[in-house]
Amino acid sequence: MLKHLVSVLIALSATFNSSSFAQDSPCSLHGIVVTSDAAKDEWVTFQKGKITAISADKPANSTNYIELDGYVYPGLIDTHNHIHYNTIPQWNGGQFPNRYAWQIEPEYLEKVEFPFSRQVDNKITNDAILYGEVRSIIGGATMIQSNYHESAPKQLIRNLDLGEYHAEASTGPIDKISDVDASKLAQHLSDHTSNRLFFHIAEGKKEDATTQAEFAILGKKKFWKPGVVVIHGIALGPNDFQTVKSNGMYLVWSPRSNLRLYGQTLDLPAALDAGVTVAIAPDWTITGSSNMLDELRFANNFLSKRYPGKFTAQNIFDMATKNAALVAGVEKQLGSIEVGKCADFLVTKKLKHLDKVSNQDQLYDPYTNLLKLAPADVELVFVNGRPVYGDSKLMTRYVPNSSSLKVGAADMKILIENEDGSDHINYTQLENRIKSVLPSVAPLYEP
Ligand SMILES: [Zn+2]
Repeated sequence: MLKHLVSVLIALSATFNSSSFAQDSPCSLHGIVVTSDAAKDEWVTFQKGKITAISADKPANSTNYIELDGYVYPGLIDTHNHIHYNTIPQWNGGQFPNRYAWQIEPEYLEKVEFPFSRQVDNKITNDAILYGEVRSIIGGATMIQSNYHESAPKQLIRNLDLGEYHAEASTGPIDKISDVDASKLAQHLSDHTSNRLFFHIAEGKKEDATTQAEFAILGKKKFWKPGVVVIHGIALGPNDFQTVKSNGMYLVWSPRSNLRLYGQTLDLPAALDAGVTVAIAPDWTITGSSNMLDELRFANNFLSKRYPGKFTAQNIFDMATKNAALVAGVEKQLGSIEVGKCADFLVTKKLKHLDKVSNQDQLYDPYTNLLKLAPADVELVFVNGRPVYGDSKLMTRYVPNSSSLKVGAADMKILIENEDGSDHINYTQLENRIKSVLPSVAPLYEP
């Protein structure tokens, strides 16, 4: 009984702490606010998870003030991942003609599918999802597209698969979807049960026949229609991109995983020339990046070598923010910092580099800064107006009930609580539960 009473008291105080900070009272955050076309020294005020004002001057009547001088970016949107696999370390098994080839490779089955089955058998899938979310949020994502199983609790970050955002994903081969299932999925788009349908299409080498055939099969199954999102699209050419654009469809680009598995990736310049909106996402951590920041940095290095001078840091920022919001169908809520939108922010340090001409330290511009960041450079990540990850000192000050974790050598903290705010999950306990089941657990961050 006493034990029960104590847990009720802890629960009440936890709810009070978290709701009093941001959910109900106005909070104002200061920093250099970065949007697609500007970076300004401003205060962003938010309440009940929504941005209520943006001003140059310090607002007079907020309850909480968080005065930082770093960059305030919109929360990054990860438009494609398989988050419950992200407990498993990276696997590098060489190159393959298409995704169906590595999925039956004995080494892949042993290194990836075997530990994955252990998670399921030991009933730690929700823990695995949570660990995957931690890995994602330390890299600045506040929303993720991933197939969550139906009973998965709502955890750290916004999930694009859940009812609220009306997005569905089909991960199997397009030619194996039965006509009955295809017509059900298409009906969801027509009657607006779904706003977006995500398909893995043409994930393989451009010269591979299976890879080449999939986009046409998508059309035959009557999925060349508004709201359909093509993940990968490696074999698509200019005419296909015209089809994507003219039918109101979108693309998700996962360069790191594509290049690891196939040595090739989407023809990004041709897709953009056709006017297609493209988002960038890691796919998963097994063959892709640990998180969005990592994927953005990878993309920048790849693009600057493959297409020198063609893409700017701002273009890459857009693919993770406003364009990702369009691809996800959440552009009214997320993807930029504007009054009325959700209070999801990535607040980071301003990094410096040595200028070769002046021989003095210079700040990166805010877009380039984003491409240089590691998870330890994050000051705070806000989801729905609440800090959930960040620098240990800041988190201790604003969210005292958050739990400690080491990210590389840095002391950081994360807030993990149940959906109803009733209890807090200790990060070390979460990690230990996974370690007790898996022979080897992926570190939080594998650069
Ligand atoms: Zn995928």
